[in-house]
Amino acid sequence: MSATGGPARQTPPPGPQAAAPAVAEASAVAAAGPVAAGDATRIGHFVDGKRIDGTSGRHGDVFDPATGRRTGRVALADAADVAGAVEAAERAARSWRDASLARRTAVLFAFRELVHARRDRLAEVITAEHGKVFADAAGEVQRGLEVIEYACGVASALRGSFSENVSTEVDSYSLRQPLGVVAVISPFNFPVMVPLWFVPVAVACGNAVVLKPSEKDPSAALLLAEWFAEAGLPDGVLNVVNGDAEAVDALLDHPGVRAVSFVGSTPVARHVHRRGTLAGKRVQALGGAKNHLVVLPDADLDLAADAAVNAGFGSAGERCMAISALVAVAPIADALVAKIVDRMAGLRTGDGRRGGDLGPLVTAAHAERVRSYVAAGVAAGAVPVVDGRDVVPDGEPGGFWLGPTLFDHVTPDMSIYTDEIFGPVLGVVRVDSYDEAVALVNANPYGNGAAIFTNDGGAARRFQHEVEVGMVGINVPIPVPMAYYSFGGWKASLFGDLHAHGEDGVRFFTRGKVVTSRWLDPRHGGVNLGFPTQT
Ligand code: NAD
Repeated sequence: MSATGGPARQTPPPGPQAAAPAVAEASAVAAAGPVAAGDATRIGHFVDGKRIDGTSGRHGDVFDPATGRRTGRVALADAADVAGAVEAAERAARSWRDASLARRTAVLFAFRELVHARRDRLAEVITAEHGKVFADAAGEVQRGLEVIEYACGVASALRGSFSENVSTEVDSYSLRQPLGVVAVISPFNFPVMVPLWFVPVAVACGNAVVLKPSEKDPSAALLLAEWFAEAGLPDGVLNVVNGDAEAVDALLDHPGVRAVSFVGSTPVARHVHRRGTLAGKRVQALGGAKNHLVVLPDADLDLAADAAVNAGFGSAGERCMAISALVAVAPIADALVAKIVDRMAGLRTGDGRRGGDLGPLVTAAHAERVRSYVAAGVAAGAVPVVDGRDVVPDGEPGGFWLGPTLFDHVTPDMSIYTDEIFGPVLGVVRVDSYDEAVALVNANPYGNGAAIFTNDGGAARRFQHEVEVGMVGINVPIPVPMAYYSFGGWKASLFGDLHAHGEDGVRFFTRGKVVTSRWLDPRHGGVNLGFPTQT
């Protein structure tokens, strides 16, 4: 039986990247399971310092994934709603770009204090709409706080350079200036951290922002915008427009939007990059992932087993840096799998408010999709050492449950290997050598993260040099960089050049200018039509 009472699909699904719009998902749930109609909270937009309902007349349903009940009705913006938000941002950007660094920084510091003081409230909202367990949600808030703290130091990141006397009595110096209005479009799996990867940096650099969060868990973004306003951010500098693909396309087409930071699945990232670039915008579009953890024979197998369980099943596998492929280099596969199975026996799947290890999946449709991948893995001949479809959750039966699932003897042709499943499904691929392991990782179209577990420094160093991904872990399974470094993948995991936050973030949200200046001098250089050179 499926989480919604129907049979799991037998055919391999198209993967999370082909996700149907939220409205379709919502109606699938409404058709399949109990929905408490009529008592859902209305969730609108935040534009020019106020919550508003919008005028599109379109709405989507928001669920508590641990109960399956509808808890919210979110407004889905159309082009007119988006235009209203962009116009508010354009008005605000004109004066915010001239706000002193001291003033901008003061707002950032005040915002940091509010988020820090209210971090539990934010984590509760994440758990209520996303489903991840409270401790995991609190960790997400902490990683977001770190980017706010980085943005508090924007004055140093924006420092230019100065060269005196580049020509006789002529000086040269560089500036970085804000772009104007920028859009941030975020996925469901980090409703706080991903908006905070971009918004504090964009605002600190002097831009105004239109944030379009995921329609599956939209409430946290509205709180962030309200708290930013409370911290002293002028009206219109941060606006939140809720919506689905229609709102995204309206942002991509709007001439007032100068740059777009997108995070989501690879097909949508590719679309956003193409359409936004064609419209003349600067675009960074972070996409999906298939992250490998390579375990060499000399590794500490207990450490590797802990890492595989933590990174494979944390947040129910709904992390872009989750490990979904464990590459065991002969002869340690049997021993490693046994250690992982031991650890999995202690995992508790349940309502994230009750303090278990992993929560439900985000929607009924997504849970069904992941379950059908499990069925596809069994049908393809992988060995389901632990089958999460049998889980007995610590939560209401209507929740979107799937327990941690471990497959052994996965081969690279199986859909459970090729596709980003985005659920608590870990597949063990057995290989004979380090070279085979690296070749496997590098042949994968995604390139977000990869980790190696070994006690051989030379092998680790070779791996960091040879592996074709943007973020590498050495005896660290989820190598998410700190805020003062930049986050981003390679290949189909990122379209564009610059990564998120850190120095790349500041470069993305600003453009460079070089000034060559000469102040009046009693001596006059005279007329000279030649091209300027140093004299
Ligand atoms: P998604 O692509 O379905 O949605 C992301 C955003 O795009 C949402 O705001 C959504 O409303 C919008 N959107 C959805 N379909 C669209 C369409 N056809 N046209 C325009 N906009 C559209 O992704 P998701 O399911 O919310 O999030 C999970 C995905 O995000 C996974 O693939 C995961 O790997 C990826 N992700 C990547 C990173 C990273 O750093 N690379 C980080 C987090 C999540």
